[in-house]
Amino acid sequence: MQIHYICRHCRSSLGRIEADKVTEVQLGLHFLTPSERQDIIAYNSKGEMVINITCRYCTEAIMVHPELSLLASPLQ
Ligand SMILES: [Zn+2]
Repeated sequence: MQIHYICRHCRSSLGRIEADKVTEVQLGLHFLTPSERQDIIAYNSKGEMVINITCRYCTEAIMVHPELSLLASPLQ
């Protein structure tokens, strides 16, 4: 299984890794709270794990325009 990293705001692909070779500890996911895990970790139609993070471009954009983080949410 592969783990895909995508930006939660612009949906651009930020890379992917082979999940068989890593553990959640190596991914840095073990310290997340259950609600954070639900927010960050998703699965695509192929059953592959998708990690929703914020790319550097969007991080900078949100720092300048904090309202963008609300506008970019898929739930709104
Ligand atoms: Zn982005």
